[in-house]
Amino acid sequence: MSELSEAVSALVDVRPVITRQEAGEAHKGGVHVETHPSLLSLLLEDTGISKNGGSSDPGIPVDAFRLELWMQVVEIVRDWCLAARTGFSRDLLAESLTGFARRYDALYGARSIDYESYADKVRQVDLWVTRIEANFNPDETREGRTACPRCGVRKLKHPDPDQPEQFAIVINVTRDTVTCLNPECGVVWPHIAEWRFETNYMERVAAGVDIEPEALELLVTRETTI
Ligand SMILES: [Zn+2]
Repeated sequence: MSELSEAVSALVDVRPVITRQEAGEAHKGGVHVETHPSLLSLLLEDTGISKNGGSSDPGIPVDAFRLELWMQVVEIVRDWCLAARTGFSRDLLAESLTGFARRYDALYGARSIDYESYADKVRQVDLWVTRIEANFNPDETREGRTACPRCGVRKLKHPDPDQPEQFAIVINVTRDTVTCLNPECGVVWPHIAEWRFETNYMERVAAGVDIEPEALELLVTRETTI
């Protein structure tokens, strides 16, 4: 499968979800496979737009993020289909995108388009997949109540002035990362343990505890992503 078709399939195909069940009294246990709707169709469910393009039950609340993302997908896929001269239908968005991917693969194979344009489309589709997944399965996060060991900031103003201040440190338990939300700092620790180590270290420095030279060296040489 081509790179683009693979990206598109992650967005438009039904998803087998495999769960492992432990043996219990009622069953033998083993692997259980369920089929979940495609990510793209999940997006459509909560936008208040029914499949035929009209408005569905007005009593259903509309999720603004999903509606906006869905409209963005529609707009971009329409432009792509137009440019590649393949059929587009808002009501058959998944089919339109699949048709486009097939056509674009052929054009790329014939060297009618360059790699950059091709990679651009793959990136865009991957981004939709990531954004929908994050929206439906948000990572589990916790706030870090200690000051950031790099910038010393503990609390920040919330971007929404009606909201209370927020803690600068966000611990992402799902991904095992820690991020400082202070825009002037923005450090990301690739592992929670590293952030914890550094925080403890700075607390000890602040408390005037002697630091072993090995620990200092470890701290100075460690690479961080900013
Ligand atoms: Zn910071």
